[in-house]
Amino acid sequence: MPELPEVETIARQLRARGIEGREIGSAQVNWERTVAPLTAATFSKQVCGVTITQISRVGKWILFSLSSGQTLMIHLRMAGRFSMEPGAHDRLILRLSDGLSLYYRDTRKFGRWRLVDDPEVILSKLGPDALTRKFTLSYFTETLRKRQRKIKPLILDQAIVAGLGNIYADEALWESKIHPERVSNTLNDAELKNLFKAIKHVLRVGVKNRGTSLGKGKTNYRDVEGETGGHRAEVKAYGRGGQPCKRCKTPLKKTVVAQRGTHFCPSCQLR
Ligand SMILES: [Zn+2]
Repeated sequence: MPELPEVETIARQLRARGIEGREIGSAQVNWERTVAPLTAATFSKQVCGVTITQISRVGKWILFSLSSGQTLMIHLRMAGRFSMEPGAHDRLILRLSDGLSLYYRDTRKFGRWRLVDDPEVILSKLGPDALTRKFTLSYFTETLRKRQRKIKPLILDQAIVAGLGNIYADEALWESKIHPERVSNTLNDAELKNLFKAIKHVLRVGVKNRGTSLGKGKTNYRDVEGETGGHRAEVKAYGRGGQPCKRCKTPLKKTVVAQRGTHFCPSCQLR
């Protein structure tokens, strides 16, 4: 599932490919649920003749600001991706000015395109984006102190902090030596600060490496250029159950926390 670094990589590539400033000539919706609650016909009518003025990202959402004043908010969910070339499983195709087309591919069909008048309809439900200045240590500390929940599901909660998914949550907890099942209000100041810094660190390194791809299947993450991202070699915890910890050589454990596969070091990350 694409997380902040993967979504950021895609947004940057769409800008680099010159999608900004282009007019949408037509929209071909092949899987109607992608644009729900709108129908394919209504969606196409509303975006036709409109220019994509700006592409940005908040959390795991990609935002296309439109000249009509509306915003197209795209969530890739499990397996959504973009391509400049046609392929199997194209659920939505935007025909743009100067003969350019943008293909939205989604084998799992979970991705969503929401056309909204005001992005706050969705953004107001999110916590601060993990890589912005709004995500501060004092906000993080106060928010976690007030809650009595296991730390891993808490940092996965997009209403607390936007951008982390399963891979980078495991990475941040490994980096800060915190057990994924620790209860949030038992973390001391030093631990909270380490976790806060680790979240920013793992996401920044992920962006620098153009994201992470950990599988070989069709649902696996690919960027706009069809690349799988260069972050795989940097992954310290996620998907490494049974392999030696890169800090202390103890075999990492795989467990399930809040229904999510979770990887941690039983000696570095004490309960
Ligand atoms: Zn270790």
